[in-house]
Amino acid sequence: MSHENHYDVIIIGTGAGGGTLAYKLAPSGKRILLLERGGYVPREKDNWDTRAVVTEGKYHIKDAWHDKDGKPFHPGTHYFVGGNTKFYGAALVRLRQEDFGELRHHGGVSPAWPVRYPDLEPYYTQAEHLYQVHGQRGVDPTEPPASAPYRYPAVSHEPRIRQLSDDLRRAGYHPFLLPMGVLLDEQNPHKSPCIRCAWCDGHPCLVNAKADAQIICVDPALEHPNVSMLTGAYVACLETGLSGRAVTRVHVERQGAQQTYSADIVVVSCGAINSAALLLRSAGDRHPNGLANRSDQVGRNYMAHINSVMLAISKCENPTVFQKTLGLNDFYFGSEEWEHPMGHISFVGKTDANVLAAGAPKIVPGFTLDLMARHALDFWLTSEDLPDPNNRVTLNRDGGIQLNHTPNNGEGHQRLQAKLKGLLKHINCTEDLLRMNAYIGKRIPLAGVAHQNGTIRFGRDPKTSVLNTDCRAHDVDNLYVVDASFFPSSSAVNPALTIMANALRVGDHLRERLG
Ligand SMILES: Cc1cc2nc3c(=O)[nH]c(=O)nc-3n(C[C@H](O)[C@H](O)[C@H](O)COP(=O)(O)OP(=O)(O)OC[C@H]3O[C@@H](n4cnc5c(N)ncnc54)[C@H](O)[C@@H]3O)c2cc1C
Ligand code: SF4
Repeated sequence: MSHENHYDVIIIGTGAGGGTLAYKLAPSGKRILLLERGGYVPREKDNWDTRAVVTEGKYHIKDAWHDKDGKPFHPGTHYFVGGNTKFYGAALVRLRQEDFGELRHHGGVSPAWPVRYPDLEPYYTQAEHLYQVHGQRGVDPTEPPASAPYRYPAVSHEPRIRQLSDDLRRAGYHPFLLPMGVLLDEQNPHKSPCIRCAWCDGHPCLVNAKADAQIICVDPALEHPNVSMLTGAYVACLETGLSGRAVTRVHVERQGAQQTYSADIVVVSCGAINSAALLLRSAGDRHPNGLANRSDQVGRNYMAHINSVMLAISKCENPTVFQKTLGLNDFYFGSEEWEHPMGHISFVGKTDANVLAAGAPKIVPGFTLDLMARHALDFWLTSEDLPDPNNRVTLNRDGGIQLNHTPNNGEGHQRLQAKLKGLLKHINCTEDLLRMNAYIGKRIPLAGVAHQNGTIRFGRDPKTSVLNTDCRAHDVDNLYVVDASFFPSSSAVNPALTIMANALRVGDHLRERLG
């Protein structure tokens, strides 16, 4: 390997995990190469066009993946600098302290993490500051302890959501202002990069005001002369030397050519599904079942949350533009009549007729899609799915991705949906809502891989986990994984802040190791 193609660190993938790690390592002066299969998201009017983004899936990957029966499907995921954070809804929430321990669910046990909340807490604070999270502490009773306040004030509610929040509070619940990573200055709107538009969730930000991994981490990292990036660089496989204990070659396909790079440290961060696929594709003499897969755990325990969108159609209009400001965790760990966890309630970005058409909801009599969208409160419900070794990423005969998944732990989610319906009965807006008797629930299908996690889990025992607590492969001394794959359980809150915080934690370890 020529000196030119050898680096101190190679990071594969520039999303929440890889991008954040690049930012952390950049000031070290070490020679760092980022390999990203995508390019930059083009800045164009379509960024904010729901027809292009949602109906036509303009920015989705074009490859088909296959389900357990070999049936092709088109996953809702993206390959770009910044990864899926370019499209995320920017709700940046900590796991609950209890999520790090063992939790008994109706459908089984959510296992404990090998690190505890206090181990990650300082990094949560760093990640919140780095990603400019706007939030408010002390309102949500399930909130874990924090060592510092948010640096930016919470994003305020618009009138319809404030009314809902007041109604919920009057009924004895604890709605809170959802922590959001947007570059918003509500005190000085004329100077604010973020303009509070309706397209944050699922769309890239045309004005670069979303705190995504490209804007916050990759672009600043690339200002360091020791950091470089190749886009359009698909990492096909990793090769180890004779001992099998170190990755010695990173094989890249770029612009129709094969290229090879090497590094003292190789970090995989391709997203939970692609990282597992990369390790499986990298099987060799010393790793016949896939790289770092002596435990046979690579690709297993795929999780993605149980998610559904519920539209509550009200006679009263919902003119909200930026809707994702309210969260509710009153049923996160259960309720008086149900002792098992149910999950988290929040909002998706405001739907319009194009979004509703893409989801093909049942039309409420007398309503057009456009009218429905104008009257809907668009709730997003998340419950925890449990790790199951049979829910796994494998490669099919052509080397393509196969996602074998059977949903589990559904009872808690159904009860969460019932809670939401019941709860709206007891608040002022109900009269409108219930008169229409129109709740439209849509469970997110297999193709909804937005919250993918858990395929390369970390743990203390090399027999049951792939990574150690530093997220280094038990079997390969210079191989690390820092995307969502390391999760041993999925919790019921959005994953990105935990991925970012963990990448900062692993970054501290790597800075020490690199000297
Ligand atoms: C529509 C949407 C809304 C969401 N909203 C939220 C939210 O509000 N809050 C939240 O916490 N989370 C949200 N998420 C989830 C969040 O975006 C992900 O959890 C997070 O981005 C995952 O980070 P990651 O590092 O694991 O992977 P990614 O961010 O997906 O990054 C992986 C990167 O690896 C690259 N890559 C893949 N394979 C290869 C290869 N072989 N060679 C080279 N590069 C490769 C990809 O192009 C990509 O850039 C949302 C996701 C979507 C899609
Ligand atoms: S302007 Fe603000 S609300 Fe709109 S996409 Fe950008 S960050 Fe999100």
